[in-house]
Amino acid sequence: MSLDPRAFQRCLSPDCAATYDAGEVLTSCTRCGSLLDVDYEWERVEVPGKLSEFETAWRSRHQPVDFSGVWRFRKLLPFVTDESVVTIGEGQTLFQQADQVARFVGVNAGRFYLQYEGMNPSGSFKDNGMTAAISHARATGATQAACASTGNTSASLALYTGMTPGMKSIIFVGSGKIAYGKLSQALDYGALTLQIAGDFDDAMKRVQEVCQSMRIYLVNSVNPFRLEGQKTIMLRVLEALRWEVPDWIVVPGGNLGNSSAFGKAFIELHRLGLIDRLPRLAIINASGARTLSELVGRRGLSWNGGRYDRRTIDDYYAELDRDHAKASTIASAIEINRPVNLAKCLRALDACDGVVREVSDQLILDAKAQVGAGGYGCEPASAASVAGAKLLVEEGVIGPSDRVVCILTGHLLKDPNVTVAYHSDDQKVFNETLGVRGVRGASFANHAVSVGNDLDQITRAIQLYGH
Ligand SMILES: *Cc1c(COP(=O)(O)O)cnc(C)c1O
Ligand SMILES: [Zn+2]
Repeated sequence: MSLDPRAFQRCLSPDCAATYDAGEVLTSCTRCGSLLDVDYEWERVEVPGKLSEFETAWRSRHQPVDFSGVWRFRKLLPFVTDESVVTIGEGQTLFQQADQVARFVGVNAGRFYLQYEGMNPSGSFKDNGMTAAISHARATGATQAACASTGNTSASLALYTGMTPGMKSIIFVGSGKIAYGKLSQALDYGALTLQIAGDFDDAMKRVQEVCQSMRIYLVNSVNPFRLEGQKTIMLRVLEALRWEVPDWIVVPGGNLGNSSAFGKAFIELHRLGLIDRLPRLAIINASGARTLSELVGRRGLSWNGGRYDRRTIDDYYAELDRDHAKASTIASAIEINRPVNLAKCLRALDACDGVVREVSDQLILDAKAQVGAGGYGCEPASAASVAGAKLLVEEGVIGPSDRVVCILTGHLLKDPNVTVAYHSDDQKVFNETLGVRGVRGASFANHAVSVGNDLDQITRAIQLYGH
């Protein structure tokens, strides 16, 4: 197991810029506390002359590293040697031109696409990052890995450690706030699962303390190696568009790892001369967890060459503390008030001329039902991207003929309770699951029709409703 000598870690702060060996297990700069980036001595990397050269990997798909939708792009994330890679065939994801969903969003047919990351082995985009983090963990000799999770990171971690001999995982979840599809995965894949009496932000704080004191490998997205794997989501989008850059990438924002990784991917591709322009990035918060939208949209926070105003952030977090404000949204995967990758996300917004918006749980669920009816289906948090795209079209920010790619981050089956409650005509079921979060109605509800066990009744129901 070994690391690639061309890779190293660098502090995000331009005033510090400390560098560290790729083999050091760190989640922040030990000199100044900033986040770390993985970087490469690019002049020593054999970068393809053009992106289409990656298509040659398709010919050797029998090799796990070329089958993986992450590792077949490993020339752009060269931090481990091939034999250190832990892969289970992640990144075999789908890309759909979704004309029906386009109509809901307000974009012209043929211009709107869904990138379905729910097709990953554990059912969410997190596998793109987990394969990278666990490969790094293994190369550094780690035997235990941990994360705090709203559900999908834990499902993914549990899957990857389950298949890696000599590696165990410990999962921190907030009490009561995890979708059953996700919790069932962590348990079934055999992870030690700790339910902390607190919310995600509490669990996140604790896992960082424990990993430091017990020297356990942390795989939350403060882990810079994880984000390297997530860069490849954008490579697969480009690949599906025959290497043309779309006008917009729209992504839900939770801990902001994905948006940060997307930004890093485009910055690097542009510097390497592999793309001639960057797409615009739209990051969508739920209105019940809107830190990014508040800080960027209302308080003017921006990257500022890496010298962003930390006071603005600290002041806002102090207000949250003072008001005992907790994140609250039906989209549990983005129910996060203190996004750990905020600084990297500011860089991505800066590079990609990005925008941030927030959408209500109502709009998220309506968008989710539309994605289900005319797209691949997705879990609630994923639909924030589609809801956000609709909002941006209404505002005139996204034009109807723009080419728009929405990222569907997680599988429809992750959170079945929410889906069934949305479509239920039982007011009690609806209220108990959705009404408590302020959702009033279901514009696209598809109620189950109750009929007797009787051929006539069944025939009549089909004649009445079956069109
Ligand atoms: C983790 C997750 C998100 C949030 O992604 P970040 O990188 O934390 O912003 C969104 N949707 C789903 C389904 C997720 O699992
Ligand atoms: Zn530093």
